[in-house]
Amino acid sequence: MKAALLNELAEVNTGDTPRRSPELLFKEEPLDIVDNAPEPEPGFKQVLIKVEACGVCYTDIDVIEGRVKCKIPLILGHQIVGRIEALGLGVKERVGIGERVGVAWIGWSCGKCRYCMTGLENLCNDFKPTGCSIDGGYAEYTVAYEDYIYKIPEVFESYEAAPLLCAGSVGYRALKLAEMADGLRLGFFGFGASAHILIQVARRLYPSSEIYVFSRSSDHRELAIRLGADWVGHPLDTPPRKLDRAIDFTPVGETVSRAMEVLDRGGRLVINVIRKQNPVSLDYVKHLWMEREVKTVANVSRRDVEEFLSIAASYSVKPEVTLYKLEQVNEAIRDLKKAVLKGSAVLKIRC
Ligand SMILES: [Zn+2]
Ligand SMILES: [Zn+2]
Repeated sequence: MKAALLNELAEVNTGDTPRRSPELLFKEEPLDIVDNAPEPEPGFKQVLIKVEACGVCYTDIDVIEGRVKCKIPLILGHQIVGRIEALGLGVKERVGIGERVGVAWIGWSCGKCRYCMTGLENLCNDFKPTGCSIDGGYAEYTVAYEDYIYKIPEVFESYEAAPLLCAGSVGYRALKLAEMADGLRLGFFGFGASAHILIQVARRLYPSSEIYVFSRSSDHRELAIRLGADWVGHPLDTPPRKLDRAIDFTPVGETVSRAMEVLDRGGRLVINVIRKQNPVSLDYVKHLWMEREVKTVANVSRRDVEEFLSIAASYSVKPEVTLYKLEQVNEAIRDLKKAVLKGSAVLKIRC
């Protein structure tokens, strides 16, 4: 089958950013496109999925550049939508051949530890991420555990549903961890794949809240206004009022201290990224004093994905999507790193 393979770590060379990691190779095409990757076979309690679309996530860049450790060689991609092609042994009646399903970052968890037993399977010590410990969706076929797949609501095209599986669902987890409530002032730092989906949901869930969006990109600020932001500015601009809740979607460390500066007393910041590219430094009085809190979001639980797919379908949430072919995956990764995309990058593999 056709697939995009990560055979060695590399820093992604976008063509216009300086090299930062001299110990790594510096490549414009970090993934190798092959025609002869072996088609996977579904194991016990697994299903074989014919991939229709797969979202490209910033975490994929963290994997390629070695900030998130995964197996190698690897097929990346953890926002997969496709149709079930075959069932492995032990698969229950719940799913059938031809059904359209999604696969998210949570590929498997142990089911027995104290985290798994209390709905915090995203914190499981044995957590296996899709497109990291398990091969993902940058390919014509993939396999997934039957207990870790989701029915995709009819209202979505496959390429529209793909970004909901990570950008949307992990963002939704961040919103839950922020303990957001209607009337509280909410700030988004960065306005890429996750934030532009989440604002559509937040606008509906918290109609009387003001939402402020901080972004360096004028295109992203413009999109934020169109999707209902009450105020937009550069991250260094002073907002009209301080924030009660904030979510940081950016890969840079400085955003954390900046967000804490504009957080009101008792406010909470949730950092919605797996890795920061540079260190975070906080001053106790300037950034934390007065009961301001900072929290991170790790992974995603099945419940987050299920709830989010259903909310997104009921509110007709539509991600802005830039489509690429599987062969163009390296271009998609460069565009994502350059932050020139509006919304989400999605590989349209078969539709
Ligand atoms: Zn992701
Ligand atoms: Zn566990």
